[in-house]
Amino acid sequence: MQQEWTNWSGSLRFTPGSTETPSDEEELAQLVCRAASDGRTVRAAGAGHSSSPLVQTEDILVSMERFRGVEHHDPGAREVTVKSGMMLREANRAFLDLGLALENLGDVDLQSLVGAIGTGTHGTGRRFHILSHHLIGGRLVNGRGEIVEFPMERDSEFVLAARVALGALGIFTALRLRLVPAFRLHRREWCAHIEDCLADLDRLIEENRNFDFYWYPRSDEAKLRTLNFPEEDQKTTIPYARCVKEMSGWSGEVIPRQRELRFDEIEFFFPAEAGPRCFREVRKRVKARHRKSVGWRVLYRTIAADNAYLSGAHSRDSVTISLHQNNTLPYDEYFRDIEHIFRDYGGRPHWGKKHYLKAGDLRPLYPMWDRFLELRQRMDPEGVFLNPYLSELLGCGRTAPLHA
Ligand SMILES: Cc1cc2nc3c(=O)[nH]c(=O)nc-3n(C[C@H](O)[C@H](O)[C@H](O)COP(=O)(O)OP(=O)(O)OC[C@H]3O[C@@H](n4cnc5c(N)ncnc54)[C@H](O)[C@@H]3O)c2cc1C
Repeated sequence: MQQEWTNWSGSLRFTPGSTETPSDEEELAQLVCRAASDGRTVRAAGAGHSSSPLVQTEDILVSMERFRGVEHHDPGAREVTVKSGMMLREANRAFLDLGLALENLGDVDLQSLVGAIGTGTHGTGRRFHILSHHLIGGRLVNGRGEIVEFPMERDSEFVLAARVALGALGIFTALRLRLVPAFRLHRREWCAHIEDCLADLDRLIEENRNFDFYWYPRSDEAKLRTLNFPEEDQKTTIPYARCVKEMSGWSGEVIPRQRELRFDEIEFFFPAEAGPRCFREVRKRVKARHRKSVGWRVLYRTIAADNAYLSGAHSRDSVTISLHQNNTLPYDEYFRDIEHIFRDYGGRPHWGKKHYLKAGDLRPLYPMWDRFLELRQRMDPEGVFLNPYLSELLGCGRTAPLHA
């Protein structure tokens, strides 16, 4: 009997028709080829840390857990090709062994690298991009079951689409990344009143390599997090804040943290200049309508503009605001209400988190939306990699009749 699949927060559950764990590219290619000729669908799953139903399927679910390890390393170019099933933590360690690192990381490292790339996962820091920015090529199995290589040198356009692909262009088997030299950071966490933090926000963002803050609606307190190169961090001062924790280490050791309590989350990307106003409006609404039911925090981060077609930060330096809700409590009414504000500020949703937007809402937000869809159609003409959620999200359906 098939086992039920559950995401990290427990808000998504489904039972796939079958779960496949191919051991190499050829086996995966044959699997997709068979699925295509039988009119079936295939979704690839990473670590299940997304809370939008991207991987949901009643048909074939593919796990890439057997695709592990470094395939190729070019020290001069700081390039590494890894097999696509590597977890982020495992990848960080492998990169460090080669003296390399991703320039930035998000809050945890328990996702797969390919899943993080697939949804535009990001950390914070106004000079740093989403993780996908490192992707400069790789290989995938397309909807016809063909193995396709897509080096940046030959097909830079496809790489820009592949950087945030939602699992809709094919199943990646290898990822080629250009990395940066490994580096150490000094991390500090501070407590302050939210008004003091907001009054000083520009300086905090400007002067720290990485800065973000959590606002706690019930107390109006904020937790500030700063990360800087250890030798430069001596000058960091926040006179109105109390430093409550600090540590130093390699970037992969100090940026991600453990998350003991499970939560659901909605997060949107905004033009950087709109961030503070949007946050103030969210804060006002949370206090007016949701404070009784919301004990959790609101997170504010910054990201540099990039050119990946479906990146939340496409062509604009961005701020992200995310709402967390304990996974044992209802989130729907809260998230829907605040999403109205997010949309008023031109917000683009994080693809791996909750949101309520559909193709018609999304298309005007992404200048390269149509081009992404053309490439998707080229890679997967029969919609082998579509599920009902993706069809609605992207506004495209299967062109072949479904398997009876
Ligand atoms: C506790 C927690 C903390 C988080 N922190 C952050 C954060 O700091 N910043 C942030 O931006 N996000 C964050 N997220 C969101 C998370 O990074 C994304 O949802 C990410 O996509 C999850 O990766 P995954 O490995 O779980 O992939 P999944 O959720 O399993 O899949 C994500 C997508 O990748 C696709 N995919 C998987 N494997 C392949 C493959 N081989 N080829 C092609 N496509 C594939 C799937 O089909 C799907 O579309 C967090 C989530 C949680 C639960």
